Amino acid sequence: MARYTGPVCRLCRRAGEKLFLKGERCFTAKCAIEKRRRAPGATAQARSRRLSDYGVQLKEKRKARVIYGVLERQFRRYYQVARKNPQATGLVLMQHLERRMDNVVYRLDFAESRSQGRQMVMHGHFTVNDRRMDIPSYQVNQGDVISWKPTSQDSRFVKALVLAMPRKPVPGWLSLDAANLKGAVVRIPGADDLDRNIEPRLIVEFYSK
Ligand code: SF4
Repeated sequence: MARYTGPVCRLCRRAGEKLFLKGERCFTAKCAIEKRRRAPGATAQARSRRLSDYGVQLKEKRKARVIYGVLERQFRRYYQVARKNPQATGLVLMQHLERRMDNVVYRLDFAESRSQGRQMVMHGHFTVNDRRMDIPSYQVNQGDVISWKPTSQDSRFVKALVLAMPRKPVPGWLSLDAANLKGAVVRIPGADDLDRNIEPRLIVEFYSK
C-alpha cells in the first residue's frame, strides 16, 4: 500500500479525534477538529453511530498506524514480532513504534511532528552513536546517542529550533542535552511511558482474530 499523501487533517476527521499530526498547528484554533467542535450544530453531529467490537478494534489499529506514520505491512510485522516475545504483546508492539528513529527525533523535540522527523532522518541530518542514520524505521536501543550531524547544526532551521526549545516535555525513557543538540536512550520505554491515547489491547485483539 502506498503512503498517504492527501490532506493530513482529513486523517483526524476520519478518526473523529485529534491525532496531533501537524506539530504546533494542532495546538491552535486553526486545528480542523477544533473548528468543527466550534461549528454551529456540532453537538448533534458529534453523535456518532455505534461501532461493533471489530469496528472499534479496526479504528484503534488505524489510529496507531496514522499517529506513527507506519504502513500496514510494517505494522503487521511489528505485531508478529511482538507476538513471539514472552512479554505482553501490546506493550512490545508499542515499544517497536516508540523506538523508531523518526519517533525518537520527534520525542526529543528535534522535529515538530513525526512526519517532519521522518523527512529529516531520510535527509541524513542525524547520527546514532556518531554514525550517520537515515533509516526512519531504525530501532534505537538503550545507550544509543542521537545527535544532529555537525554540518546540519549550522542550518537556520536548527538555530531557530534551539531558541524555541523546549517546546514539549521529553519522555522519561529519553534524555535531552539541548545545548549540545544530543539525546540519549536511557531505557527501553515501559508501559508508563506509552501514549495514553492508544489502547494496544484492542490492536492485539484485532490481529489475533
Ligand atoms: Fe489533526 Fe493537527 Fe490537523 Fe488538528 S491540526 S486536525 S490535530 S493534524
